[in-house]
Amino acid sequence: MNSFFSKIWVLFVVAIAVQPMYGQHLSAQKKVLKLMGSRFEITAVADNDTLAWAAINAGIAEVQRIENIISSWDPKSQTSKINRMAGLRPVAVDRELYDLVFRAKKISRLTGGAFDISFASMDRIWHFDGTMTEMPAPEKVAAARAKINWQNIILDPADHTVFLKEKGMKIGFGAIGKGYAANRAKAIMQNMKGMHGGVVNASGDLITWGKSADPNGWTVKIADPKEKGKVLGWLPVQDMAIVTSGDYERFVEFGGKRYAHIIDPRTGYPTTGIKSVTIVCPDTELADALATSVFVLGKKQGLELVNKMKGIECLIVTDDNDIVTSENLKLNYY
Ligand code: AMP
Ligand code: MG
Repeated sequence: MNSFFSKIWVLFVVAIAVQPMYGQHLSAQKKVLKLMGSRFEITAVADNDTLAWAAINAGIAEVQRIENIISSWDPKSQTSKINRMAGLRPVAVDRELYDLVFRAKKISRLTGGAFDISFASMDRIWHFDGTMTEMPAPEKVAAARAKINWQNIILDPADHTVFLKEKGMKIGFGAIGKGYAANRAKAIMQNMKGMHGGVVNASGDLITWGKSADPNGWTVKIADPKEKGKVLGWLPVQDMAIVTSGDYERFVEFGGKRYAHIIDPRTGYPTTGIKSVTIVCPDTELADALATSVFVLGKKQGLELVNKMKGIECLIVTDDNDIVTSENLKLNYY
């Protein structure tokens, strides 16, 4: 995984300064740490320092708890067990994991299969850590691709089992897990004593709630992809999730062409054409899944999908730095 602090912020500079509260004597605290292999930033605004830190620690514990269930690296996780039993037998899992798979399948249906947690059979082919030196053989890609099919993820509500119908199938929550964890951490923190507001930022998948330390509320600045360090505009993100897909550190390059770390389930090849996708909506998990989906669908189909959905907006930056937004995204300019 990437080194802790070297992750390049694709699109956002988050304007969440922890400043003294104006006459309210509230405490705003922030912790930066590595969770789920990524850089997390957790901010709490509370009655006092003790309560703010208690909330931050509870948020961290919740993310760690979820990581233990959904990690596909950890051989002890329930997810790894599902993968090991692919083609063999159904695995009974916690209701929480069962429900997450259920929602992931719903998004597959919604996106015509662009989003598919069974993309993970491609893990054996594509490595986005700089170790690949040549394009994989087309037959290998085709063989692994043939294992991707969300409709072969069989759920049984009676005993909460998940069954991957074919041998060689594999699921992974890379495109939805951080969003789910951010939602959950927020929910836990929000209900704690003396809490007024906060942010959970799971390396670009972020959600805000309640009072900000800034009198303008929680805002997110959008960086200009054409000019490093320049800000394009800003968005208010009060009680809102904002998620960006598009990680400049994880890609492969062959013949001068860059392939992103998102797999098109239709081809088994990484997507091309889009640099980053940002989704704004009230739910981090949905935003996370949709950002990945729009990457696969491409500019035209991706915008069509988002424009059909109420309360969900998006901003797409293409490989040639074209910026397009959904119909109701109101970007503010300075
Ligand atoms: P994100 O940064 O949220 O767009 O997630 C990217 C991660 O999602 C990748 O690193 C993979 O773990 C996973 N992934 C890749 N392609 C897909 C896909 N088509 N559907 C679901 N998950 C995917
Ligand atoms: Mg995602």
